[in-house]
Amino acid sequence: MTTTIDPPGAPPLLALDNVQAAYDGIIVALRGVSLLVAPGTIVALLGANGAGKTTTLKAASALLAAERGAVTGGTIRYQGRDTAAAAPRDLVRAGLVQVLEGRHCFPHLTVDENLRAGALGRGAGLQARRLLRGDLEQIYTYFPRLTLRRRAAAGLLSGGEQQMVAIGRALMARPTLVLLDEPSMGLAPLIVEEIFSIIRTLNRQQGVSFLLAEQNARLALRHADHGYVLENGRVVASGTAAQLEARADVQAFYLGVGGADGGRAASALTS
Ligand code: ATP
Repeated sequence: MTTTIDPPGAPPLLALDNVQAAYDGIIVALRGVSLLVAPGTIVALLGANGAGKTTTLKAASALLAAERGAVTGGTIRYQGRDTAAAAPRDLVRAGLVQVLEGRHCFPHLTVDENLRAGALGRGAGLQARRLLRGDLEQIYTYFPRLTLRRRAAAGLLSGGEQQMVAIGRALMARPTLVLLDEPSMGLAPLIVEEIFSIIRTLNRQQGVSFLLAEQNARLALRHADHGYVLENGRVVASGTAAQLEARADVQAFYLGVGGADGGRAASALTS
């Protein structure tokens, strides 16, 4: 059974309505995904491998074409505007920024240069440069680990530090909404906790909203306000983080409660 809970208050920042998407015109990845991200919230997109989380994020940020994918149905609205004809860079300028899975950094550039790269396109005047310096220093206050490494080549950093650089670079674009793909992947639990607590702080202090795709449902629900569970390209459950955590089927299939195999996903959720 699917529960749809609309976040209360202001109009949504991001709204997907019955979105369908396919790769190469034949591989159907999304079969009618509807979701909302309210301003100032953290929304978790949960699901097993191949459920469609990355495709959902890339559909929202207009990045599917780069993978021979396309939105084939439904509508995506960001700040009320239909994004069907939007180029990725238009969305970035409008504050919608994606951090791709795999903590992409420029390995030969320093941490500082990587972060500055996130501000490209913001203009080069004196005022823009001043703002950029201020933003850079602020990012170092959120990620103090990076301060010590600011002159190091990003390729020499640990996985957790690289994830911080990738998030920091997105922040340099002054985002309203960050689409964050599997921030915990391959990282040790302690560093993952640190990253999620920084995400929470950025959300609370800067008002940045996040739509984060995570296979680690327990972790994501602990930090998110709302969540959606995807399976086979469909939303099979949604609600506040507390509602999802309390559901027995979500517990069984995604939170590892009761010994069920979370990776087997939740065909039970749809039945
Ligand atoms: P993961 O955690 O493994 O990234 P996911 O939930 O993000 O999983 P997607 O990557 O969105 O899932 O994949 C959804 C479906 O689309 C899967 O069946 C996958 O095989 C397919 N798919 C994803 N990317 C491509 C691509 N570039 N070309 C063809 N099919 C793809």
